[in-house]
Amino acid sequence: GPTMAKSKFEYVREFETDDTCLPHCWVVVRLDGRNFHRFSEKHNFAKPNDGRALHLMTKCAQTVMEELEDIAIAYGQSDEYSFVFKRKSNWFKRRASKFMTLVASQFASSFVFYWPDYFEDQPLLYPPGFDGRVVLYPNNQTLKDYLSWRQADCHINNLYNTVFWALVQQSGLTPVQAQERLQGTLAADKNEILFSEFNINYNNEPPVCRKGTVLIWQKVGDVTTKEVKLPAEMEGRKVAVTRTRTKPVPLHCDIIGDAFWKEHPEILD
Ligand code: ATP
Ligand code: ATP
Ligand code: MG
Ligand code: MG
Ligand code: MG
Ligand code: MG
Ligand code: MG
Repeated sequence: GPTMAKSKFEYVREFETDDTCLPHCWVVVRLDGRNFHRFSEKHNFAKPNDGRALHLMTKCAQTVMEELEDIAIAYGQSDEYSFVFKRKSNWFKRRASKFMTLVASQFASSFVFYWPDYFEDQPLLYPPGFDGRVVLYPNNQTLKDYLSWRQADCHINNLYNTVFWALVQQSGLTPVQAQERLQGTLAADKNEILFSEFNINYNNEPPVCRKGTVLIWQKVGDVTTKEVKLPAEMEGRKVAVTRTRTKPVPLHCDIIGDAFWKEHPEILD
């Protein structure tokens, strides 16, 4: 403020606790939609995978990466997204609460702001919320294992959900019957049910559903139309200008194996 004089109340600041993230660690913020089981039903999500919802989630994550600082990579599936801050980031002095609340609020406001672009015929019925947590990973291996864990979770859930909803939607089983049918089955059994009963080869399901979405910074050629200063006789002409920009680009690839990290070593710099 204009005066730096301290009031007698100033001492209460000492009650604030230090939540600085340990230096040199990867800082991961993971968000998860609050009670999206209910939210997805109320908003008529297609089951098992609503593409509008997946694409809206990714739009929100791209907005978070563009508006906030120092996010190296993000990974999302279902109603969750993880954001990885660079090891050397000193944004907000590495305060965990700043990272977490800025990610969560930017994501949630974007979700509401961009909702009509993705759900054209489905009104948003109530304000959704997202919980957040911060986890530190001390080295590249634990960070890669963290992301592998989320992608493995995506795979396990999506395989289950794909069979479950085929049994409900195509074989007319009740949800309880479908659940009982799948009790104790292994991945191979689920693949077999899909193939023999529904003629579905799981590997041909959309990558966005099987692998989730990885967002990494990549150069993209942006063609924009621009008014440019030209000699008087050509005044007001619009000219196509190609600028390269770095943007968060979505990929639906495997991030568990080494290939992804060999192809994009700069992420871990
Ligand atoms: P930071 O991201 O660090 O919080 P900031 O610009 O939000 O940066 P604050 O110290 O939070 O800084 O100050 C908020 C500023 O927002 C005020 O200084 C004022 O300029 C503006 N502001 C907030 N609420 C109002 C309001 N109701 N009417 C007019 N101005 C407002
Ligand atoms: P919590 O508040 O504990 O996170 P939740 O109901 O959100 O409760 P989750 O384990 O996060 O529980 O599961 C999210 C649920 O949201 C999924 O089980 C699924 O029913 C639904 N869901 C999320 N994204 C989609 C989508 N793209 N298409 C269809 N359903 C979805
Ligand atoms: Mg303020
Ligand atoms: Mg949960
Ligand atoms: Mg949830
Ligand atoms: Mg979830
Ligand atoms: Mg402020």
